[in-house]
Amino acid sequence: MRVKTLLRKVLGLGHAVVVCGFELHDGARPRLDVRVRAKAGQRGRCGRCGAVAPWYDHGGGQRRWRHVDVGVATCELVAEAPRVSCPTHGPTVAAVAWARHDSAFSRAFEDLVVHDAVVGNKQAAADRYGISWRAVNNACVRVATEALGRVDLLEGLVAIAIDEVKYKKGQRYLTVVCDQFTGKVIWAAKGRTKAVVGEFFDALGTERSAALQFVSCDGAEWIRTVVAKRAPEAIVCLDTFHVVGWATEALDEVRRGEWNALRRSGGAVAAKALKGLRFLLLRNWENLTGAQRSVIRDLDAVNRRLLRAWQLKEELREIFALPLLAARRALDDWLAYASRSRLGPFVKLARTIRVYRASIEATIEWRLTNGIAESVNASIGRLRTNARGFHYPQAFITMIMLDRAGIGPRLPWAT
Ligand SMILES: [Zn+2]
Repeated sequence: MRVKTLLRKVLGLGHAVVVCGFELHDGARPRLDVRVRAKAGQRGRCGRCGAVAPWYDHGGGQRRWRHVDVGVATCELVAEAPRVSCPTHGPTVAAVAWARHDSAFSRAFEDLVVHDAVVGNKQAAADRYGISWRAVNNACVRVATEALGRVDLLEGLVAIAIDEVKYKKGQRYLTVVCDQFTGKVIWAAKGRTKAVVGEFFDALGTERSAALQFVSCDGAEWIRTVVAKRAPEAIVCLDTFHVVGWATEALDEVRRGEWNALRRSGGAVAAKALKGLRFLLLRNWENLTGAQRSVIRDLDAVNRRLLRAWQLKEELREIFALPLLAARRALDDWLAYASRSRLGPFVKLARTIRVYRASIEATIEWRLTNGIAESVNASIGRLRTNARGFHYPQAFITMIMLDRAGIGPRLPWAT
């Protein structure tokens, strides 16, 4: 095998690219320069729009693109970058098969960088490839923009979930919409207002809004009123994931109340024990170890009120796994029990659940599982934690779409 053929294959350059030559620059870290050109007959397309366009001039002459590393060496592709005269864009650098327009990276290298930024974070990707954070950020924007231009995520929707996501401390939120069936995020924008939900329905259009059969959301009025107006045929569901979240909050409120009461009455040791219980109480029963389960059982002797609150939370979770008729009966019992529990937060929760009961039952009836909302929330939380928060909402939206909209880059060696 000739070395040029070997290089073309190992570097994953494809048949449209010809390897003209190569040089190895020795140093602390060697650099392999590979001179390439497009195959004859492949030239002359606008780098922006891909339209066939006549030759214009030599442009800036030779250009370089950082490519996937070869062993310990870095690798750069070197080629002429002539300009074409695009009917729409005027003189523009001609498209090349190995790189996106206006990028100093090859497509394969860029895809790798973005992949690492999504599964880890941008700084880790920057360190790994020895490039700047800003270069990683630009690559993410380029890859997401290109992919979003190729697909229409709003096509063929039947069931969607609308939710809010915090992107920064201090009441900064995004509105995120997902497809209930595929679990993909299909739309996201800054803010959580009626106007933002309205923007989503504007993008969706009248016909596709009318085709929506289910819309899941929490109790938020800013979502519900707009949905009722813009998709009046859709059944509004309340994701049980949110209801369990409310129950968890009520449980924690009871725990705090008991802790305060104990502290005031001088039971400092007992109070301290309750404080340490927080995470144990909030976790699901099936995820507790044997020892942790004993701690909960022991509450029977230590703090009855807290045990009752914990039981109410766990029972509510179980109801959502039942078939509709059984769930209805169980929910009746639960509401009666919670209302009489003399636990303030659960009395209040029972009232809220009565308000949204139709939406909750619709969720159980149509089996719109809470797995989707849960996993979307978890992965968005992971992105936010890995990035240690996002200053700019648009940067967060880009990462959410790359991770959850099914538009993330494929690894260069994916088949
Ligand atoms: Zn063009």
